[in-house]
Amino acid sequence: MRLTRFTDLALRVLMRLAVEDAELPTTREVAATMEVPYTHTAKVVARLQHLGLVEARRGRGGGLALTAAGRAASVGGVVRELEGEGDVVDCDGATPCPLRGACVLRGALRRAQEAFFAALDPLTVDELVAAPTGPLLLGLSGTTRGPAGTPAG
Ligand code: SF4
Repeated sequence: MRLTRFTDLALRVLMRLAVEDAELPTTREVAATMEVPYTHTAKVVARLQHLGLVEARRGRGGGLALTAAGRAASVGGVVRELEGEGDVVDCDGATPCPLRGACVLRGALRRAQEAFFAALDPLTVDELVAAPTGPLLLGLSGTTRGPAGTPAG
């Protein structure tokens, strides 16, 4: 199963924000750190805000931050939400497959898709920035502190 670019970018944004502490980054800074277009990043950030995973804090020192729910969010839950749980194969598309009424493969693919999501369920966003990812992100973003307020060292 292949994730959409939107979902991949959303996970990258969540990881970037999971290591932020001393200074909150702007959407433009997150886009620059992740080397992705600003417009794509802005759409992803808007969706993550809508889901309650990210918040934009205004005023001096403002920027993007993970909410508590975002930090504790299940990666499997985030991927399910962004990918949807439709069939991995379009059996009922413009030219419906003649086997769709009694297809063993279709059921097997559904079970495989659920197994894919289930493998990601136990992992939280916060856990995605454990070493070595967190320290690498800190280096890319120029932040000075590590996850959950831990000095980056
Ligand atoms: S063979 Fe089965 S899984 Fe493939 S398109 Fe047809 S119904 Fe769907």
